[in-house]
Amino acid sequence: MTMIATPTTTPEPLVITEQTFLGQNFIAGEWQVADTTFDNMSPNHTNKLVGRFPNSTAKDVDAAVRAAVDAYPAWKKTPAPERAKVLYRLALILEGMKEDMAREMTLEMGKSLEEARGDIQEAIDMAYYVAAEGRRLFGQTTPSELPNKWAMTLRQPVGVCGLITPWNFPIAVPSWKLLPCILAGNTVVFKPAEDAPLMGQRFVEAFDQAGLPKGVLNLVQGIGNQAGKALVEHKDVRLISFTGSSETGAQVAKTCGEQLKRVALEMGGKNACIVMEDADIALAAKGLAWGAFGTSGQRCTATSRLLVQSSVKDALLDKLLEHTHALDVGDTNEGAAIGPLVNQAQLDKVLRYIEIGKNEGARLRCGGERVNREGFFVSPTIFDNVTPSMRIAQEEIFGPVLSVIEFDTFEEAIEIANGVEYGLSSAIFTNSMSQAFRAINELEAGITYVNAPSIGAEVHLPFGGVKKTGNGHREAAETALDIFTEWKTVYIDYSGELQRAQIDNY
Ligand code: ADP
Repeated sequence: MTMIATPTTTPEPLVITEQTFLGQNFIAGEWQVADTTFDNMSPNHTNKLVGRFPNSTAKDVDAAVRAAVDAYPAWKKTPAPERAKVLYRLALILEGMKEDMAREMTLEMGKSLEEARGDIQEAIDMAYYVAAEGRRLFGQTTPSELPNKWAMTLRQPVGVCGLITPWNFPIAVPSWKLLPCILAGNTVVFKPAEDAPLMGQRFVEAFDQAGLPKGVLNLVQGIGNQAGKALVEHKDVRLISFTGSSETGAQVAKTCGEQLKRVALEMGGKNACIVMEDADIALAAKGLAWGAFGTSGQRCTATSRLLVQSSVKDALLDKLLEHTHALDVGDTNEGAAIGPLVNQAQLDKVLRYIEIGKNEGARLRCGGERVNREGFFVSPTIFDNVTPSMRIAQEEIFGPVLSVIEFDTFEEAIEIANGVEYGLSSAIFTNSMSQAFRAINELEAGITYVNAPSIGAEVHLPFGGVKKTGNGHREAAETALDIFTEWKTVYIDYSGELQRAQIDNY
């Protein structure tokens, strides 16, 4: 593979053909074109248009919110096991669409076909898992402190929810939000990322086929600071669930705070993987290559810091470099395992961080350059001799860049791992039970993997992070219902008397 700083090929001018895909919004059960559109380009080829999608305005958002408001009373009243039937049908429909959708996902946002299939499988798993909640959705019954009095809790929907999602898991992440939200009886306005609108449309088409009543799910495509912003600001939206960058998340939270609107945020990470000297070094190297460079490092759980005990650093790095050199970087539409960054801005950001790393005095061990081909490719990059305070050890890069930091003791490793603003995922490779359990307890992160890389969430376990990664919520699992439902507490006094709690019984 030849590397140079800038591409030598001049992209062909953009060609719009009759086959150009024209995306639509979905409002009140109708597919609708918008007045203006934006272009969605394939990251493997800078001149290849995936389609044109509605550049929705506040007016479109308002129409979608009104449709969701109108659909809410009937959907809320529909028994949860009935609502769940739509999700079972959705799972079957997604299974049928999986292969075609995976190819489109690879074209649209560049991840490998194998990973794209996994992305859709996650939504299928989630659909089955959440559908089963339709016959659970448990509340509690508990004794009252007074005789002949019944006490219980039940879950109720929140209302109209705005769901805003990123491009890196364009089906999986929307499924974490859409499925529990709809199952719980809410109605939705969904704003997918502008770098993955086709996947947003496909997901909504699947819901439409599954027989979801009109207005329960509305799709509004568009640009974040126009369509997304209008959705967050809309007075009739009771809840915003957002996954994306910390900068945008902070703005979303500010608006929601001003309006006293419920908000669930899932944002950045700077995930560390600790490798102790007693670890299986071959396994750790393999895991690190996958954790750091899968999806070209564009996962919020990607391993971006390797903390390695000094005594095994050279042995581990030798093996990791071998794996990294063997990675097949190229056009994922043609089967490459490691694809491009999603867009020009992301490419510029990653190249900027590589320069920062060099200027900070870190040692470049491999990669560090744009790949000499069309598209937004950066070769998998490893920096050695990184110190914990360097910017490449502190800030989220969201690309194929791994910063290697050495340590001597376990305590030092934990301190370095915790010495960042984020706290999403973490990992430790060790064969010591005591070190593994201490890491589970001491790592400040929502997720800890032992003897596995920092990626690989399963749908029935909570997903989310501490510190600046989130604001205390957990997606997936049963915990997703805590985002999308309100608790109702019920007291039923069948004594026929006025009974006063804390007074008549003391
Ligand atoms: P990234 O930089 O990874 O694309 P963003 O936070 O910019 O992350 O985008 C995540 C999602 O948030 C996208 O759907 C985007 O359109 C949306 N978004 C961006 N800016 C805003 C905003 N000001 N208000 C609401 N949504 C936004």
